[in-house]
Amino acid sequence: MNPLGRDQRNQNITRMNREIFDLLVIGGGITGAGVARDASSRNMKVALVEASDFASGTSSRSSKLIHGGIRYLENMEFKLVFEALSERKTLFEIAPHLVHPMRFMIPMFKDSRVSFFKMGLGMWLYDVLSLFQAPEIHKKLEAKETIATQSELKAANLVGSYIYYDAYMDDDRLTIETIRSASSYGAVIGNYLKVQNISKSRDVYVVDLIDMLDQTQIQIKTKQIASCTGPWTDIFGSQIEKGWKKRLRPTKGIHLIFPRKKLPLHQAVVMGAEKSNRIIFGIPRGDYVIVGTTDTDFSTDPSGVHSERADVDYLLQVLKSYFPNSNVTVNDILSSYSGVRPLVKDDSDNPNATSREHLIFKDPMGITHVTGGKYTTYRKMAEDAVHAMLKDLPYEKRVEFKTSRTLEPINDLVTEAGYREFISQDRTGEEKKLAERYGPEALSILRPQGNYTLLQREVAFHIDNTLCLSIPDFYIRRSNLFLYHRDHGLSKFDEISKVFRAKLAYTDKEIGADLETLHTTIKKEMGWKTQN
Ligand SMILES: Cc1cc2nc3c(=O)[nH]c(=O)nc-3n(C[C@H](O)[C@H](O)[C@H](O)COP(=O)(O)OP(=O)(O)OC[C@H]3O[C@@H](n4cnc5c(N)ncnc54)[C@H](O)[C@@H]3O)c2cc1C
Repeated sequence: MNPLGRDQRNQNITRMNREIFDLLVIGGGITGAGVARDASSRNMKVALVEASDFASGTSSRSSKLIHGGIRYLENMEFKLVFEALSERKTLFEIAPHLVHPMRFMIPMFKDSRVSFFKMGLGMWLYDVLSLFQAPEIHKKLEAKETIATQSELKAANLVGSYIYYDAYMDDDRLTIETIRSASSYGAVIGNYLKVQNISKSRDVYVVDLIDMLDQTQIQIKTKQIASCTGPWTDIFGSQIEKGWKKRLRPTKGIHLIFPRKKLPLHQAVVMGAEKSNRIIFGIPRGDYVIVGTTDTDFSTDPSGVHSERADVDYLLQVLKSYFPNSNVTVNDILSSYSGVRPLVKDDSDNPNATSREHLIFKDPMGITHVTGGKYTTYRKMAEDAVHAMLKDLPYEKRVEFKTSRTLEPINDLVTEAGYREFISQDRTGEEKKLAERYGPEALSILRPQGNYTLLQREVAFHIDNTLCLSIPDFYIRRSNLFLYHRDHGLSKFDEISKVFRAKLAYTDKEIGADLETLHTTIKKEMGWKTQN
């Protein structure tokens, strides 16, 4: 893996201003990261620009699952489920340090909207669509066995449960590792570079950008453009083109984080919300449990998304109905986070039924837009997008760019066999925890560096390797500090800022500004606490 620090970004900006690219990718969420990785792995000359930090949009706000989506079977979206399950298998192979198997339980009650029998058929279908490649095939438990497995569950009217497997991941890490991989294949990458205008001169697009860090202007010349702006697709589209036709029906989803000792889940639990066909997950992650998500129409700028008290109450109510004896209250919530799904508009009358399929289309200027879809299917979606763009190239270029290498490990230091061997060795709890996020690269963080603490070494790793340019970048998208601590990790601020001082010559003023940004972010997301 190439180092990807601030110096590299400066060099990349110089190259962006000087060279002509085969493809410019706009947007550094998982979709843009995937397209840049696919295209650069074919030897296309690629640049990727992101207006804010990588994964700062929807891509750090998901349920953090790599899953086929059992719920979509009900909407008869078999193709989507099949594709997602097959991508799940691929991701186990190419990103074993980021995508891990997870056991799920679906408790079934006498009055469940879907009968025990019908759910059983769904479970078989899920196994069939995964070509029986799940870590284990599903299992049926009677009511007694269900309670023995998850004793906190509501016992009244329980008829049994199904156990099946999907996977979990750290979404921000998956995006950033995909970006690093694209960079290793030669992509020229920069965060905090916002596209403002696009024009076309003969066969070359001229793209005007602003560097959000110092407000300087940048101009990129490129032969093709892939806009991967997720829930900003329509906002960005209407900014660059008159008469833009809206393509999205964005919806908001929020999650809550609880300490696991308050909600002791032994596997993920799938909860049906009221009589609607929404499902809510309770997902154990180490010492914490993530509960989500909601699905409500959201029509304003995704940058302003935040959880509301009504969203929180809704999730709490579902949780209490499944775990009446756990006595979870609003005071147990450590944090919340919210995001906007870039769903493609269809004829559905409710957000829930809106398809999760992706959409690739060309606008009148010839720009390719890639939107919709799911984290799980990002690699396939990227491949489809690059195939669509290759069709416009002359024959010899199509031959030159024919072979994609996206089935190779995302991190060239982490093969599946190497990772399994690494974690099978005698490792301390700390090493295992780090290995789950970094694979064998954890060793470079564990290695002593002067008098740095472990946390400071992790900060240093990100400053050097993942274009972590500010303290909030580290808090929110490079670590779990923001999500898993009641104080959102603020007690660690001085420890972290020391590394920014040492490595990026951060001044008192910059540190003060970053602290203020963190406080503003906390206030925005956790503002529901002061609502009635
Ligand atoms: C609540 C919720 C839960 C979910 N859970 C799951 C799950 O468990 N599993 C799963 O598979 N999927 C899940 N998804 C779906 C998945 O998260 C999204 O499909 C995916 O993250 C979308 O990624 P994206 O790159 O298209 O969009 P984004 O991540 O939003 O990226 C778009 C980027 O474009 C940038 N941008 C916008 N305008 C400009 C500009 N002018 N110049 C430069 N850059 C610009 C933005 O800053 C942004 O970073 C979930 C979604 C939500 C909302």
